[in-house]
Amino acid sequence: MKEDVDFLVIGGGSGGIAAARRAAQYGARTALIEGGRLGGTCVNVGCVPKKIMWNASRLAEMLDDVPGYGFSIDQSRFDWPSLKSARDAYILRLNDIYQRNLDQAGVETITGWARFEGPHDIRVEDRKIHAKHVLIATGGIPTIPALPGAELGISSDGFFALETQPARVVIVGAGYIATEFAGVMNALGSEVTLILRKDTVLRAFDHTLREVVMSEMHTSGIRILPQTKIDQIISGDDARLRIECTGESLDSIDCLIWAIGRESNVTGLGLAEAGITADEHGFIRTDPFQNTTTEKVYAVGDVTGRQALTPVAIAAGRRLADRLFDNQPDAHLAYDNIPSVIFSHPPIGTVGLTEHEAISTFGEHNIKIYQNRFTDMYHAMTSRKPPTIVKLVTTGADEKIIGCHVVGHGADEIIQGFAVAVKMGATKADFDNTVAIHPTAGEELVTLR
Ligand code: FAD
Ligand code: NDP
Repeated sequence: MKEDVDFLVIGGGSGGIAAARRAAQYGARTALIEGGRLGGTCVNVGCVPKKIMWNASRLAEMLDDVPGYGFSIDQSRFDWPSLKSARDAYILRLNDIYQRNLDQAGVETITGWARFEGPHDIRVEDRKIHAKHVLIATGGIPTIPALPGAELGISSDGFFALETQPARVVIVGAGYIATEFAGVMNALGSEVTLILRKDTVLRAFDHTLREVVMSEMHTSGIRILPQTKIDQIISGDDARLRIECTGESLDSIDCLIWAIGRESNVTGLGLAEAGITADEHGFIRTDPFQNTTTEKVYAVGDVTGRQALTPVAIAAGRRLADRLFDNQPDAHLAYDNIPSVIFSHPPIGTVGLTEHEAISTFGEHNIKIYQNRFTDMYHAMTSRKPPTIVKLVTTGADEKIIGCHVVGHGADEIIQGFAVAVKMGATKADFDNTVAIHPTAGEELVTLR
């Protein structure tokens, strides 16, 4: 059968758009199907609105800091609805920009929800498309637990739809979203309780990083309930919630946010018609080249269950297009040393192995840790004194750097450059040979003893 297109992308989020544009630039006849809003999770209900909220929360902290720098200002009132409407307007502009970029690249955009009718035959409403290559980039959706009253809570999607600021917030979870949202809401003035099923947030991260973030959460007034299991949620007469946990109940809660992870978004996609079976967690597993088990059907991004980060989806999508349409047979994304930032208070920047991962991989005797704890000069003038910690995990006689971790003021912007060095295989001596930039926090990473 003659193909309608060379490359059909299902999902107009980070991975799908990147792959489609790159393929079209190589001359492939490309179409992209999106049922929701262009830009996907990151643009509409993820990175972008989250970063704006984090910026707002940092400004709130800075308003508290300014007297130390000689300013006296009457702290102005924070107006949630006006920030929300400006944020929404910004995202609408981004949606338009994504559409224009696809148009300019020559990608046909098809609006609707796609469903496989065969491995290379996809239906969108009354249109059927036959494609030579098909990419699944349908992303993920928030997990809601199976608990009585769970539907009374909201997910991160619901958080970004809130028209007014909730006064009393309970957040359940221990990962990126729970940590980031707790810090944002607390700094903006909500009363925040964080419910953990275990003892700590960010268990997958280096222990030094999470210890600082946990301790700063306590100091800044976030109430943390470790080892807590929720039994049920009940709606009160005043439309507020009662959250019944083992041990205690939380009353008069305005907003409950589930932040307990995300699952793949494949419902209704007709994976069986494509000959693809999702794994036990619902993710579409791929080989290192993003191939699924069905020939010429690929998957990238959150739907694959790998590191669920926008630049990962983008990089995997672009490399796939390079391989398929630019005669680069070895092009693929290496999933090691992927840097990431948690927009916590203070932020975390991290790349490579944690101290514990390094020890279990190379053995304790082959690992040397360099670490420094200090107060950033910014905080010399403020009443808040959150610490900064920089940490290098090295291995072998040449002290190759296999982990670089920063928590503190500016960590979010510091880590990208250091990630280049780690990815290139830098050693401690390479860091030492680099002249410091003074006075910065980053210089501490090249002056560690
Ligand atoms: P998505 O961006 O989810 O795109 C999938 C698209 O497919 C969606 O638009 C969906 O509507 C569409 N779709 C699904 N099924 C169909 C179908 N059958 N037919 C047609 N269309 C379909 N990552 C970072 O790197 N930095 C951050 O700061 C960050 N912050 C985040 C904050 C939050 C609150 C959340 C939830 C996520 C955050 N992420 C962040 C993660 C990031 O958003 C995702 O990793 C990224 O969006 C994944 O891209 P994707 O292309 O795989 O999927
Ligand atoms: P995460 O996977 O980061 O964390 C979820 C955590 O919640 C789990 O690790 C677990 O921690 C805890 N949890 C799981 N189930 C339950 C439960 N039933 N009750 C209580 N706690 C539970 O998921 P998120 O939803 O926070 O974020 C999804 C993904 O989105 C992230 O993994 C990340 O890839 C991406 N993201 C990236 C951001 C960034 O780059 N800055 C920001 C936001 C999201 P434990 O086992 O310790 O209890």
